[in-house]
Amino acid sequence: MHVVYDNGYNVRSLGSVGCKYGDTLRHLKSLFSPDASQSLHIHAPSEFSVAASHTAEYLDSLQNPEVLRTIFELEALSAEEAAAIVAAQKLQYSGTLTAANLALQHGFAVNLGGGLHHASREAGSGFCLFNDITATVEYLLEMGKAKRVLIVDLDAHQGNGYEADLWDRCQAGQVCIFDAYHPMIFPFPEGELVKRSIHYYIPYMPEDRGDVFMEYLLKGIDKPFDEFQPDFVVYVAGTDPMEGDPVTKLSQTAEAIKDRDLVVVETCRRRGVPVVMCMSGGYGDAVPQVVAESLHRLSLPFVECIDAEPGAEPDGENNVEEMK
Ligand SMILES: [Zn+2]
Repeated sequence: MHVVYDNGYNVRSLGSVGCKYGDTLRHLKSLFSPDASQSLHIHAPSEFSVAASHTAEYLDSLQNPEVLRTIFELEALSAEEAAAIVAAQKLQYSGTLTAANLALQHGFAVNLGGGLHHASREAGSGFCLFNDITATVEYLLEMGKAKRVLIVDLDAHQGNGYEADLWDRCQAGQVCIFDAYHPMIFPFPEGELVKRSIHYYIPYMPEDRGDVFMEYLLKGIDKPFDEFQPDFVVYVAGTDPMEGDPVTKLSQTAEAIKDRDLVVVETCRRRGVPVVMCMSGGYGDAVPQVVAESLHRLSLPFVECIDAEPGAEPDGENNVEEMK
């Protein structure tokens, strides 16, 4: 398994949430025993400039700690802490681009950070400063490394940042967006303005432990592969739908989160489409362990089969919705 990580992803001043990346790697290393046939390859991020995907005005504004304080919803933030956050997210941004190149070589690669899906070209938002997803898509298309990129975003929040940035690419048939999110949390209602970029939508519902979501996912995941025929997939694997998450209050079990990851990655493998996975949201204490267990299972050489419960038809209203 090819993983991109740097110690600089972690920001101590943000507490355990700011250090979840290093904690995830620690769990991951403990699951890959040295004598096992599966090996863990850890790569440092190559350097990519955020200037390629953001306006100069926005990047200048990040020198003001007040701007970061608002994006991170913090009551206070020193200049030193602000600089640490900017540096960490620049590395994570580069990490997703680096992992995308590794995915092209190996079929699958993971950035143990990134998935900063609320950031757009002109603005940061919702703990996200740099639009690594937009940047990865633009890079792949501009460099001729992909012609049609599918974004599968199963974080609990709508990916409003790249949805704003990539509208023209969607119109041109170069990008397809499959976004699952809780419809009544951040960035609602502002997110409504960019919903036109979404091709497929699944709702996360507060009471669902994961069974209902899995029904929708299994029914919907093949559609973009059949209809859009992607040659690259960006998987935004936020774990904030998991029970115990203090931000979203959703109730998916840890097993449901791992099964969801398996369905997405195995679908890409079955279709022969390279996939890069990035970590995105997830704020509960269990996140590092669950992500590590999920990645370890994805590294195993056998394919598990997850079948829909017979007879458990989701009703049409909440089924995978084709937005266009
Ligand atoms: Zn989220």
